[in-house]
Amino acid sequence: MFNAILIEKDDAGYRATATSVDEAQLPQGDVLVDVQYSTINYKDGLAITGKSPVVRQFPMVPGIDFCGTVRQSQHPDFKAGDAVILNGWGVGETHWGGLAQQASVNGKWLIRLPSGMKPEQAMSIGTAGYTAMLCVMALQRNGLTPESGDILVTGAAGGVGSVAVALLSSLGFRVIASTGRQQEQEYLRKLGAAEIIDRNTLSEPGKPLGKERWAGAVDSVGSHTLANVCAGTKYRGAIAACGLAQGLDFPASVAPFILRGITLVGIDSVHCPVKERQQAWDRLSHELDPAKLALIGSRTVGLNEVIALAGQILEGQVRGRIVVDVNR
Ligand code: NAP
Repeated sequence: MFNAILIEKDDAGYRATATSVDEAQLPQGDVLVDVQYSTINYKDGLAITGKSPVVRQFPMVPGIDFCGTVRQSQHPDFKAGDAVILNGWGVGETHWGGLAQQASVNGKWLIRLPSGMKPEQAMSIGTAGYTAMLCVMALQRNGLTPESGDILVTGAAGGVGSVAVALLSSLGFRVIASTGRQQEQEYLRKLGAAEIIDRNTLSEPGKPLGKERWAGAVDSVGSHTLANVCAGTKYRGAIAACGLAQGLDFPASVAPFILRGITLVGIDSVHCPVKERQQAWDRLSHELDPAKLALIGSRTVGLNEVIALAGQILEGQVRGRIVVDVNR
């Protein structure tokens, strides 16, 4: 038996419990992992509370991220004792996830924990930090350097935004942080933001083409914000779009694309190829300043605290990352 959060849906309703599960119930997979740490993301909050149909089959163990040690492997790339990370791939949605002491998964979903990175540290970075690195890599792939000009980060005080600000400033970019939380100005400056703008200046419908203000952007907000970000991007600039905090819509015009040759790059962390995700994690281990990661902050909780925190995350009451020690 092992401890897990289990989501069930039947005649008795939709419910999540912290419980013991028989190993025989584990889904098929060619690698069995002893999980050490997981996280609670917004998506996990939706799954645990049932507020949105994130879970596609029942019973389900939630947890889209985990870090642990391989116990058994039939996959040629992994052997017992290897330290591994998993993010995404539908784990915690269609396949049992990381909020458990054991996970049976497909070896092709796993990547290696970079040497020098501790499991708890990896989970304090989590999907949000890994997505921020994918965004930075996309901007660099599109030729942006600190000499190109400023980089705007929207949703800057959020999970993805905070890590993006930290990474870009450490790489020498001048970062403009857009936030709705003016009380987080000092925090954002400590992460490396050179300039802070109010997110309200971007969130309403704007002109198809505006003044050229930034060479690139990391956008976790979508909707009118993303349209305005595109309208303010310099000639041949690039924007990495990864989120929908304002909305799923994209009420923009083609003007910045056909008149300024800008590039909009979509970022998906869930099915990102293994080679790119390994590269992102390896870069995080070298390029994310530990002092800045400490500033972003995380707290570690046990499995028994997960269900209460899932509701609080959805209500926006949680600041910083939550790492779950599944053995606590
Ligand atoms: P988060 O910590 O909740 O941060 C989102 C930030 O967006 C908030 O902190 C806030 O920033 C800003 N925001 C919230 N509501 C807004 C609104 N109505 N208008 C404008 N800005 C608003 O979430 P996260 O973990 O950083 O994730 C950010 C987004 O990326 C989410 O939409 C998430 O679903 C998505 N995501 C996508 C991927 C992927 O693979 N593509 C991976 C991870 C996350 P300020 O407080 O600074 O204003």
